[in-house]
Amino acid sequence: MRLKDQVALITGAGSGIGKESALLFAAEGAAVIAVDVNLASAEAVAREITSSGGKAAPVKADVSQGAGCQAMVKAAEEQFGKLTVLFNNAGISHADDDDAVATAEDVWDLTFAVNVKGVFLGCKYGIPALRRAGGGSIINTASFVAVLGAATPQLAYTASKGAVLSMSRELAAIHARENIRVNALCPGPLRTELLMKYLNTEEKKQRRLVHIPMGRFGEAKEIAKAALYLASDESSYVTGAEFLVDGGITAAYTTPL
Ligand code: NAD
Repeated sequence: MRLKDQVALITGAGSGIGKESALLFAAEGAAVIAVDVNLASAEAVAREITSSGGKAAPVKADVSQGAGCQAMVKAAEEQFGKLTVLFNNAGISHADDDDAVATAEDVWDLTFAVNVKGVFLGCKYGIPALRRAGGGSIINTASFVAVLGAATPQLAYTASKGAVLSMSRELAAIHARENIRVNALCPGPLRTELLMKYLNTEEKKQRRLVHIPMGRFGEAKEIAKAALYLASDESSYVTGAEFLVDGGITAAYTTPL
């Protein structure tokens, strides 16, 4: 049990990386607060955990709102006594996110509200709880696009993930002596709803795959395993890291034919 006696709050727990992490963290002994703006999906994940003997509770919250973030942290402390792992994972990729000329201001603002302000608010209300618990681990989901520009434009998303990465570094430096570690998890392109709704033809998929040395998309389960490492004591000397889990995409200029 790699997360025995831990209490983990995961945002965006209803789908993709968040869902797989909730299931894995619970199987490794953590009590899980499954947070999502879509309550039904969080409830389904929490039910899946409790029906197999684990501990979980669903919470509906929009991470772009302070009140929701305050309530989700309160739920962790009230229901499971403390908070020791904060996984700020919820994020959106807007269908109308484009280049600088074509992206509307409201698309930019919404993307930053969820992807950047959501991480800030998770930390704003989560860090006092981690302090009360004597420390813990914060994992912020950034992306490989935080370190690479894509010619298929999604400017607001890319900039938002750059902000998550730089925010994570500074949080790590500020809180290191409080026994609070902060790392940015940077997944490569995954076979989840978030990406596949755009790569909806074989041609679009192949155009992306040609850049990935491994020649395949990642799975949410593979990112959950990386998150588990960052959540657990196995990563006790890891803070401020840019943890790329990307099939080699950021390492390669060209890929095998
Ligand atoms: P997903 O769409 O499968 O799941 C995201 C979940 O977040 C959904 O359940 C959604 O309801 C929830 N959510 C959205 N807005 C929210 C809000 N305001 N408050 C609370 N919950 C909200 O996506 P995923 O692929 O699992 O993505 C998870 C994270 O990983 C995101 O931050 C995403 O940007 C990042 N990421 C994804 C990929 C990819 O290829 N899928 C690659 C790199 C990074």
